[in-house]
Amino acid sequence: MSLRSVQYYICCSLSVAFKQSMATSRYLHTVQLFKISKRSITQFRYDLKGDYRSHLCNHCYNSTAYNLLEKQRSNQQYRLLSKYTSKMASGKPPYKVISDDADRKHLLDSFDTFLFDCDGVLWECDKPIGGSIDAINFLLENQKQVLFITNNSSKSRSQYAEKFKKLGFTPVNPANIVTSGSSAAYYAYKLMNQKADQSKTTVFYVGMPALGEELKKIGLKSIGASDVDLPKMIPDWQFFQKDPSVGCVIVGADWFFNYAKATAAACYLVRDDVVFIGTNTDARLPTSNPEIVNCGTGSIIKMVESGSGRNATYVGKPEPYMWEHVQYEFRGTNIDLSRTLMVGDTLYTDILFANSAKPNPIASLLVQTGNHKLHHVEEVVSRGDSKSVPSFVSKSLNDALIPVCK
Ligand SMILES: [Mg+2]
Repeated sequence: MSLRSVQYYICCSLSVAFKQSMATSRYLHTVQLFKISKRSITQFRYDLKGDYRSHLCNHCYNSTAYNLLEKQRSNQQYRLLSKYTSKMASGKPPYKVISDDADRKHLLDSFDTFLFDCDGVLWECDKPIGGSIDAINFLLENQKQVLFITNNSSKSRSQYAEKFKKLGFTPVNPANIVTSGSSAAYYAYKLMNQKADQSKTTVFYVGMPALGEELKKIGLKSIGASDVDLPKMIPDWQFFQKDPSVGCVIVGADWFFNYAKATAAACYLVRDDVVFIGTNTDARLPTSNPEIVNCGTGSIIKMVESGSGRNATYVGKPEPYMWEHVQYEFRGTNIDLSRTLMVGDTLYTDILFANSAKPNPIASLLVQTGNHKLHHVEEVVSRGDSKSVPSFVSKSLNDALIPVCK
């Protein structure tokens, strides 16, 4: 008997034994679970170890996958999937659309801390989104804790505090703001301190001066791509003199990004011992004009990745490192994650970030004033992408919080 036949026989035997050992109701639940959310299970299966996949036939795999899911009941992915599939099974969408004052009251009563994305939630470029100022004030009047987590690294935390003031928001303490730039600086600082060769701890960065400000604040030496004379013509690059002290390259938001900056970053990344950090993956910035695309930082970093042949380590939302940074920066605040709501306009950063929170996912609200709308939520639900599904959806921040009948 061949090894494959033995594997098949063992798998089938295990499957039969597994089914027989289950109570009828449990088995029916299993069948229902797989029927209802076959796509979700298929997606989840790819998160399991390849060893299991390669040794099991498809039929046996489903049983084994469920068995593994049972064993991993404490795993947060399982909890998320379970919650998602049980809502699907009940015929209800796995999210709640905020539609009346009872829903608004529920939000206000359920959460003490509100974590806000900024672009597409509070403002679009330099214009506040309608009602966002009132909504933040309403939370503050109700003694809620309000903190801000933005992937936009074009401003430093102190510059963001200035922006809040300039746009008419209640003044915000820079200590209550985290950016992907501050996250990148903190991550670089940790890595540079661990480097065996302390003569290579300078950071070369492609970004706005704000990124240099964050690096300086944390105590790192840096060279900005905007601050040095870079070759103008392609033949001149063979004479490009690299600073030998550079041990890290960070690429962030740079509204004056160009070929020379990308090439300089790629030149430093030729050496494998130079760390490559990308602030965030956002391909676009939100815009209310459907005919216009504002390329985001993720698009910039892609060019450097492509040119250098290296993959950046990302530190903004939804990456796990951002949680570490948030917990460090907001360590002075009293955050109960079970009563914390993440508010954002982008499913693949803000909502995924909330669903990837450690140690457990936190609740999230998608406001439809930026990148994603309700039909995008419906699309991710139909795809079985449970990790990008928000807990709540509303037209805007104002609509989610402020009662219509006061
Ligand atoms: Mg946003």
